[in-house]
Amino acid sequence: MLAVIAKFYYLCPITRPRADPARDFAPTIHPDIMELSAQNIEALRRLLETPQRRIVILSHTNPDGDAIGSSIAWAESLRRAGHTVACIVPNKYPYYLDWMSGIRDVVIFKTDSEGRAARAVEEADLIFCLDFHSLSRLDALSELIAANASAKRILIDHHLNPTEPFDLMFSHPESSSTSYLVYRLIERLWGADTVTRAQAEVLYVGMMTDTGNFSFSYITPDLFRAVAALAETGIDIPQIYNNVYNSFTEGRARLFGYVINRKMRIMRKGTVAHLSLTEEEMRRFWFQQGDSEGFVNYPLTIKKMKMSAIFVEHHDFIRVSLRSRGDVDVNLFAGRYFEGGGHRNAAGGKSFVSMAETVARFERAVEEFAAEGHL
Ligand code: 5GP
Ligand code: MN
Repeated sequence: MLAVIAKFYYLCPITRPRADPARDFAPTIHPDIMELSAQNIEALRRLLETPQRRIVILSHTNPDGDAIGSSIAWAESLRRAGHTVACIVPNKYPYYLDWMSGIRDVVIFKTDSEGRAARAVEEADLIFCLDFHSLSRLDALSELIAANASAKRILIDHHLNPTEPFDLMFSHPESSSTSYLVYRLIERLWGADTVTRAQAEVLYVGMMTDTGNFSFSYITPDLFRAVAALAETGIDIPQIYNNVYNSFTEGRARLFGYVINRKMRIMRKGTVAHLSLTEEEMRRFWFQQGDSEGFVNYPLTIKKMKMSAIFVEHHDFIRVSLRSRGDVDVNLFAGRYFEGGGHRNAAGGKSFVSMAETVARFERAVEEFAAEGHL
């Protein structure tokens, strides 16, 4: 009897519990809307059909977990397909990524005294641009890229509004990370079962860091299916979390306390905050590349806060990092006031005036932005 009921239940779609898209997806949880174009996949397949391609994989200045993770994993799949691959980044990655397997092979252009980056770019017939949308984000490295005009350029990225023409573009702002995008590309080209444990580990780093440990936007059921496939390879998720988030120095912890306690300014009735860090302050706390990572998120833990910024002094400019909640569009803000861009809720840019002027300009910009109804 039970079997009969079960069979009836199975055959009758109306009585089966069905997914109700309106109910199953709260506004901030998106159904997987990332559709890779079959035409683009075919074009990529054709580019990779020629054996022994010389390939360069580039990622952005101040490379983060997603930039490095997606590059290493993509390189590994391409090498296995018989190509020669060099991963290049403009400057050093943060020290809390040092443990990642394959990271030693990533060439750091700024300190590359042997000219490995220049040679690889010069000889390349394919250049993949991962996790950035504009060659201007490569700083000094962009001239080297411009010099090789014959290589085909392929974009694999999740930032808004790519600025240059590419021969082939996988531009998916609806992807929560470039690493997720790379996972889906590997799946389509060679199958998900070709992803090794080492690749799974670095892809997981990219997915975890770009989503704030799976808590920002574009957290889709398909993302978790991808994560499940990565977990099947036997990666140690708590260990990866520890390696990335619990590996800072004492100086960083003290600097964080100092910045929040002494440097956080709050405006517009507690809805906008900004932080700043001068070179002198960084020296005082034995600053290392990557130490200020995440500081800008902290003001957003305050109830009602909508937007947060940090200004970090560098040699000849000030880096601006912006974060927001909900509809507040910091990509628009960064583009308008700080020559930058990024995503709606996480963006960055640069300022070429003093710290005091940068802060004053930011505060004026916030008022203008608010007056226009963006805040
Ligand atoms: P972060 O604040 O973590 O450096 O960057 C946040 C986001 O904004 C990242 O997705 C990053 O790619 C983007 N971003 C940061 N700085 C710049 C910039 O100078 N120009 C552009 N176009 N995007 C940036
Ligand atoms: Mn990214």
